Amino acid sequence: MPLPADLPTPLTAVADPVLARAGVELRLKRDDLLHPTVPGNKWRKLTPNLDRALAEGRTRLVTFGGAYSTHLRATAAAARALGLASVGVVRGEELAAAPRNWSLAAAEADGMELEFVSRAAYRALATGGGAASGRWADALVLPEGGSNALAVHGTAALPAELGDLGPRDLVCCPVGTGGTLAGIAAGLPSGARALGVAVLRGEGYLEAAVEELHRAAHGRAFDGWRIHHGHHGGGYGRVPAALEAFAADFEQRHGIGVERRYVAKALQAVYDLAAAGALVSGTRVTLVVTGVPDEAAAAAVSRS
Ligand SMILES: *Cc1c(COP(=O)(O)O)cnc(C)c1O
Repeated sequence: MPLPADLPTPLTAVADPVLARAGVELRLKRDDLLHPTVPGNKWRKLTPNLDRALAEGRTRLVTFGGAYSTHLRATAAAARALGLASVGVVRGEELAAAPRNWSLAAAEADGMELEFVSRAAYRALATGGGAASGRWADALVLPEGGSNALAVHGTAALPAELGDLGPRDLVCCPVGTGGTLAGIAAGLPSGARALGVAVLRGEGYLEAAVEELHRAAHGRAFDGWRIHHGHHGGGYGRVPAALEAFAADFEQRHGIGVERRYVAKALQAVYDLAAAGALVSGTRVTLVVTGVPDEAAAAAVSRS
């Protein structure tokens, strides 16, 4: 394993009257505790790619992300740990001259070379133009969000850490680019189901992305999964006041930090679906805590 981690991550039960009334059991899969600087699904998606980079003798990792991309930060930290160079192509050329935010500063501190490009250039590079141009021939080029076939194999290992799963089980995770959901759905035993919660407006598009990842990783389609589109909160990175209040309340009652852009939306969806009677009584939900809150991530950076 190129990056040692604390596996398997803990599985903790959440006792809550709202869920109990609906007959729904909730467990948290604490992937937020997986690794201090390459947390959660980023570790699961990156490690098979790191294995490949090392096996192929690559000396650099190249990838793409926005101004606060967890994937850029995680890739920089992983590259540094393995003695590889890294390049991050960042969406937004105006950021080049601006003071670095904490997230980009952390990536840079881990040795990542940042390249700021316009939105149009970003789209062209991130959708394959960069790799095709040959300018990163010595590098392993990872897609935005890190979701490729190897990443799907990485997250497909997760359901095996959840004990016996059967027809009453619903494994839930947030959906950004879909790699995490695709892997979980592919790794489930038959009968168990996966529910992804979209964190951005992506109805249709996200389903197609997951199907494409299944074809790329396994050469076939999987059933037993779906994406819920009712809790994106207005779009990527948007945190409506009601979501903020829900997450803060959950943190206070259960003593677990709730990452806002992804985890909070998935958690709120579980609560709302349970309260609305949309989850059959007797359902056991396992929510994958795919990452850590920004404050915790920033603190981990300053310690490393
Ligand atoms: C990156 C990220 C996701 C998105 O996962 P995808 O595989 O892109 O769908 C989910 N949760 C957290 C906390 C993340 O940082």
